[in-house]
Amino acid sequence: PSEVQQNQIKGKQIPGIQNIIAVASGKGGVGKSTVAANLAVTLSKMGFKVGLLDADIYGPSVPTMFDTVGAKPISVEIDGRNLMKPVENYGVKMLSIGYFSGANQAVVWRGPMASKALNQMIRDAAWGELDFLLIDLPPGTGDIHLSIIQEVPVTGAVIVSTPQHIALADVRKGIAMFQMESINIPVLGLIENMSYFTPEELPDNKYYIFGNQGAQYLAEDLGIPVLGEIPIIQSVREAGDVGRPAAMQEGAAITEIYKTVAQNMI
Ligand code: ADP
Repeated sequence: PSEVQQNQIKGKQIPGIQNIIAVASGKGGVGKSTVAANLAVTLSKMGFKVGLLDADIYGPSVPTMFDTVGAKPISVEIDGRNLMKPVENYGVKMLSIGYFSGANQAVVWRGPMASKALNQMIRDAAWGELDFLLIDLPPGTGDIHLSIIQEVPVTGAVIVSTPQHIALADVRKGIAMFQMESINIPVLGLIENMSYFTPEELPDNKYYIFGNQGAQYLAEDLGIPVLGEIPIIQSVREAGDVGRPAAMQEGAAITEIYKTVAQNMI
């Protein structure tokens, strides 16, 4: 980057936060939030200081996935500034619009309001020292994405997709957004979620329910790596619902899979 660009980047930098990684998806329902949650606890277990910002303002799921529904970030004064103190569980510091609205309340945000709220959660929060701040973006590409990625010094983006053709088609748009000249955020890779299913009674069989190899071809075509393949596992879904991410399980195969993805990402 030119000197001017470098200064701009520096001006935006958030003190104490080393890396900001955006977790994005072309479509909703592909498991983006689940991947973000599991990567956050995995990085924490690897010894990093981790924050997770739930920017999925239309369907915040971090409070549920981390068993923190009803938690309220308190206000703390640091160096004369009133800052929000993130909620913490499983070694991950979190902020989510879900902590500020009622559990069953629909939040209707206009683009500028939403991006203002998100900016505050990033800049007016007592994150402290973080190695990684993961941002769980809303699905798709839109105003909110653009304002976040223009305002926040994002280090890199990962894109989550199922192997399904129609999901992958939208991945192209997501990647194109990060690669726009004015944005220019490195895409660290593609994470394939719901890659295959292995029934317990047939442990050697893999069923490619949403298609096979699609992510590999697309990633090759776009010149980005595939960071990992996460199978469809009932405990991943159950863990999300009970509020304890699957990657918290010691010694489980899925825990190792998330660890591989995290290692490939960083
Ligand atoms: P998104 O953030 O892309 O909208 P979610 O993370 O909310 O998607 O996931 C959608 C649903 O799929 C949730 O019910 C979640 O528990 C489930 N899910 C996600 N990944 C997996 C997986 N690998 N195996 C089983 N269920 C999964």
